[in-house]
Amino acid sequence: MKQMKLAYIDNKPYEIKEGETILTFLKRHMGEKPVPTLCDAPNLDPFGSCRVCSVDVALEKAGKTKAMASCHSPIGEGQYIFPNTPNIQKLRKNIVELVISDHPLLCLTCEVSGNCELQDVAATVGLRDVRYPEGANHLDTPKDLSHPYMTSDLSKCINCFRCIRACDEVQGQFVLSMAGRGFDTHIIKGLDQSFMDSDCVSCGACVQACPTSAISDVFQSKSVTATNTTRTICTYCGVGCNLDVATNNGEILSITAPFDAEVNEGHTCLKGRYAFKFYNHPDRLDSPMIKRNGNFEKVSWNEAYDFIASKLTSFKDEFGPDSIAGISSARCTNEENYLMQKFIRTVIGTNNIDGCARVCHSPTALGMQTTFGTGAATNSIDDLKDTNCILVIGANPTDAHPVTGAKLKQFAMKEGHVTIVIDPRRTEMAKYATYHLALRPGTNVAVLNMMFYYIISEGLSDITFIKNRTEGFEEFKKEILDIDIDKLEKVSGVDRNLVREAAIAYATAPNAMSFHGLGVTEHSQGTFTVIQIADLALITGNIGRRGVGVNPLRGQNNVQGSADMGVQPHQGAGYLDITNDEVNKKYNEFYGVDVPKVIGYKIPEMFDAALDGKLKALWVIGEDIVQTDPNTKKVIKALESVELVVVQELFMTETAKYADVILPGASFLEKNGTFTNGERRVQAVRQVVAPIEGAKADGQIIVDIMNKMGYSQADYTPDGMLEEISQIVPFFAGISWDRLGKNGLQWPVLKDGTDTQILHLTEFKRGKGFFEFHNWEETQELQSHSKEYPYILTTNRELEHYNCGAMTRRTANEQILSYDYLLINPEDAKENLINEGDYICIESPRGKVDVILYRYSRLR
Ligand code: SF4
Repeated sequence: MKQMKLAYIDNKPYEIKEGETILTFLKRHMGEKPVPTLCDAPNLDPFGSCRVCSVDVALEKAGKTKAMASCHSPIGEGQYIFPNTPNIQKLRKNIVELVISDHPLLCLTCEVSGNCELQDVAATVGLRDVRYPEGANHLDTPKDLSHPYMTSDLSKCINCFRCIRACDEVQGQFVLSMAGRGFDTHIIKGLDQSFMDSDCVSCGACVQACPTSAISDVFQSKSVTATNTTRTICTYCGVGCNLDVATNNGEILSITAPFDAEVNEGHTCLKGRYAFKFYNHPDRLDSPMIKRNGNFEKVSWNEAYDFIASKLTSFKDEFGPDSIAGISSARCTNEENYLMQKFIRTVIGTNNIDGCARVCHSPTALGMQTTFGTGAATNSIDDLKDTNCILVIGANPTDAHPVTGAKLKQFAMKEGHVTIVIDPRRTEMAKYATYHLALRPGTNVAVLNMMFYYIISEGLSDITFIKNRTEGFEEFKKEILDIDIDKLEKVSGVDRNLVREAAIAYATAPNAMSFHGLGVTEHSQGTFTVIQIADLALITGNIGRRGVGVNPLRGQNNVQGSADMGVQPHQGAGYLDITNDEVNKKYNEFYGVDVPKVIGYKIPEMFDAALDGKLKALWVIGEDIVQTDPNTKKVIKALESVELVVVQELFMTETAKYADVILPGASFLEKNGTFTNGERRVQAVRQVVAPIEGAKADGQIIVDIMNKMGYSQADYTPDGMLEEISQIVPFFAGISWDRLGKNGLQWPVLKDGTDTQILHLTEFKRGKGFFEFHNWEETQELQSHSKEYPYILTTNRELEHYNCGAMTRRTANEQILSYDYLLINPEDAKENLINEGDYICIESPRGKVDVILYRYSRLR
C-alpha cells in the first residue's frame, strides 16, 4: 500500500498532497483563513511578496525554525509548521505596521471600509497604532478618473502586485506594471498613462484583485452597501460567465465575478461586469403598444393580447397556420424558447419557427450532426489545461468571447504550446500564434483540404482510430490525394509549406483542440467547413477524451439553448426530426394536440414568403433583424409586407419601429430561467430585481397568449418549465431547477443527475464518425459581383459592444467605443487615396453606408 506522506501543524501529523504549498496545506486542514494574507489571491499564482502569510517551519521535531512565506513555499514531507507562534505574530504586525505607515488613515470615509483586506489583516494582527513618525510618503498620488468605469487612487496602493498579476495572468493584457526603484516603486498603466489612454480592456480583473480601494470602479463594487447578492449568468455571449450581482432596495449596485464559478473563475469582460445599466434605462419599453394611423399608442396587456389573438386566429382560419411565423430569441431563457416553439407548433400549428442561429451557427449544428450525430461542443473550455495544440479558425475570441479568449491567449503565450490560427485578419490570437494561415476570405475549405492532404501524405493519420470509430475514410482519402494543391495554394494565398507545417503540428500533438467561430459558419461553404473541422479531429483521433475535440465558440448567450429547445423549422425540442412518424406521435401525445410534420420556413424563407404575400403575421422576440440579418432593405420590405408584426423587446429597436404591436419584455436581470453556454452547460439565471413597471417576463407573455388562444399552459416558472422540458428533451432528462446548483450541468444529463463533460467517449451518436469530402468552390457572391465590387466586406465583433448594441449602447461602453468603423488593408487604402479617420462610403449590390475609416489593419 502506498505510504501516506505527512507534515505537521503544531506537532500534529496531517497528510500532504503532491504540489501543494504550505498555505494550501494549512487551508485544507485548518479552514479558509489559517493565517492572514495580502498578496495572495484565489485566482493568481503564488507570489510571496508581502510576507504577511509567514509561518515558522522546522525540518525536524523540535528543530530550529525559520520564517517562510507560506503562500509560495512548497510543503515538504516531515516539515513541522507553526502558523501562529509569538515570533511570527510579531513579524506580521511589524510588516503591516510598515505598510500602514504609508497608507491614508481614512477608513471611515473609504469606499471599501468593512470590505478592505488591509483593514482586516491589520485587525487580525492586532495593529492599533503606527509607531513611526510621519515621513516621506505617497499620500498625494493623484487619482485617475479618466475612464467611464475604472478608477485608481494609488495613494492607497500597498504594492502587493495583485493588480499587475491579474492583468498578466488572468487577462493577459500586460497593461499594469511596476515602475521606479526602492521607495519610488509605483504602479503604472501602459506607458505611465491613464486607464483610458492605455491598452486596458476594462475587464475589471485588477479591480477585483486589489485588496484596498487603490484600484476600483465607479460602481464601488467592493463597498459593503449591498443588502443582497444574487448569482446569475451574463446575458451577452456564449461563454456564460457567472456574475454576483449586488443590490440594495431593488436597485443594482455592481457586479463581481465569483471565484468558484467553473466557467469564469473570478473573471469577466467589461460587458459582463460593467454593462448592466441598460436594465433601467429611460428608453426601456414600459407598456404594450399598438400602432394606429402610423403612431404607437399605449394599451393594456389585455387589449394587446386580444388584438394579437384575434388577428392570429383570423389569419389561421383564412390562410392556414403556415401564414404565421415566429422568430425566437437567443437572448431569452431556454424555458422561454421552449414556450415560443411550443406556441408556434401547438397553438398556431406550423413549424415556421426559427432563431438567430440561422445567420450564425446553424452550419455548426448541421455539420457536426453529419459527422458525429450531435451538433454541439464535444468538450469543455477547462480542457485547455490538458491540451498541447489549439486550432482557432474564423474566430477572434479575445474580442468576441473575451473570457474564453483570455484563456486561449494565455495558452498561446506559454512556451511549448502550439497555436494555429486560420484567419484573414491578424487578430490578437494571430499575434501569439505559432502558425498564422492568413487566407483569402472564403477559402477555409481550400486550406483545410490542403491540411488533410499533408496529414495523409505524411502518414500522420491515426489509423487505429479511423479503423475502429469511423467510416467513409477510403473514399475521403482518395478525393483528398486528388486535390490540386497548386490551385488551392493560389486561391487561398497561403504558402503550402506553412500549411504543411501547421498540419503536421496539429496531427502530431498528443492532444489538439479546435475552436471555430462565425468566420467559418457565415460563409457559403460554412457547413462543409464545420464537417472538415470535425473530420480533422477524426483523422487525427482527437476526439473522445480530455484536451481534444471540436469546440464551436457560440455567439449569443443562449443560442445553444434556443436550438436545443426546438427553435428550428426542421427539428423540435431535443433536436427530434419533426418529419418522423414516431417523433410526431410522441409530440402529439405530449402536447395533447396534433403538431405538423412539414418542415417550416427558415428566416430567409420567412422574408421571401412575406414578399410573396404568403406570410401574414410574424412574431419576433428579442432580435433586431433589421440591423442584424443580411440585406437590410429586403428585411424592411418583408416587414412592411406582413400584415401583423409583433415585436417583443426591451427597446424601440429598428425592427420594433416596423411592428404593429409591441410587447415590453424583461431583461435577464428581471427573470428566472436557464441559459446553455457553448460547452452545453445549463446554468441558472436568477432574478435579481423585479421587471421594470409595465414589463413582463417574456415566458409569461407567451403563456398568456397561449391561454388566450385556448391552450392551457401553466404560468411561467423555471422549475415548472424545466420539469416539462425534462420529459420531452431526452438530454435534459435529469435536469431540474434544484439540481443546477452553482455551476449548472452539462448535457446530456442522465435521470439521476449525472452530467457529461466530454461527448463521444467510446462511440458517436450516429454510430461511427463519418468522413465526407467537399471541394472548394468560389462563393456565389464573388462569382456574381467581384467585377463591379472588387473588395470583400465582412463583419467583425467589437469587445465593447454586443450584437446590434441595443443594450451596450445604452451603457457607458458607448463612451469607450462610440462609432462604427471600417478596417482595411493599408495597400487598399492607399490605392483608394483614403486615410485613417476619413469618412468613406461603402457600396455593395445591396446598398451603401457611410462609415469612418478607423484604422488600417493587417487584412488580406
Ligand atoms: Fe459575458 Fe461573455 Fe464577457 Fe463572460 S465573456 S462576461 S459571458 S460577455
